[in-house]
Amino acid sequence: MRILLVEDERKVASFIARALREQTYAVDVAETGARGLELAWETSYDTILLDLRLPDMDGLVVCHELRRRGIHSPVLMLTARGLVEQRVEGLDAGADDYLTKPFAIAELLARVRALVRRGLKRSEATLRLADLELDRHRRRAQRGGVNVPLTSKEFALLELLLLRAPEIVPRTEIVEHIWDVHFDSGTNLVEVYINRLRQKIDHASPVKLIHTVRGVGYRLGLKE
Ligand code: CA
Repeated sequence: MRILLVEDERKVASFIARALREQTYAVDVAETGARGLELAWETSYDTILLDLRLPDMDGLVVCHELRRRGIHSPVLMLTARGLVEQRVEGLDAGADDYLTKPFAIAELLARVRALVRRGLKRSEATLRLADLELDRHRRRAQRGGVNVPLTSKEFALLELLLLRAPEIVPRTEIVEHIWDVHFDSGTNLVEVYINRLRQKIDHASPVKLIHTVRGVGYRLGLKE
C-alpha cells in the first residue's frame, strides 16, 4: 500500500510519515502542491493525504487538479480550519474525507485504513494468475487453493508483481514501491524477498510463476 503525503510543515510531515511507515505503508512526501501533482501523476497511490495550506497553491486547487487529470486515489484533506463551509468546499473539490488539525494519530490511521479499503473497492479486489490468488481486502494469498502466509512486505511485493503481470517490474521500481523513494537500491534486499516469495509461492508447485529477468527485474507469468 502506497500513500502520498502532501504537507509543507516538515515536522508534521515526518511525524505522520513515521506513523504510517510503522503500519507498513510506503510513504512519499511532497512539500508543495506542484510536487504532489507530479508524484500522483507518476505513481498510483492507495490514498493521498493533502494539506489545505501549501506554499505554492491551495490544497483545494490541488484536489481539483487531481480529479481533472483523472487521478481517482482517495483524498484525505488535512487542515487547521474547521469551518463547515470549508469542509464542504473540500468535499466539492473531490476530497473523500476531511480531518482538522490538531488530530490524534490514531484517528488519522483509522481514516487512512477506511480510505484505502474504499480505494480497493474501486479497483480490483482479487488478483489472479493461474492458480495463484491474492485477496487484497483480506490480505490473503493462496496457491492451488492452499493459504500461503506472507509478511506485509512479501504481500506488497507479490501484489505489485501481480498488478503488472506479465510485464517486467524493474528492480528500481520494486524498491520505490515496497520500500521508500530514497532507499539505497544497491542492497540485495529485493533478491532476498524474491527468494522468500519463491520458497512460499513456487517451491511446492511444478509450475514456476516468478521469473528473473537478468539485469532488469522480475516478472510473474506462466512462461519463462
Ligand atoms: Ca501547511
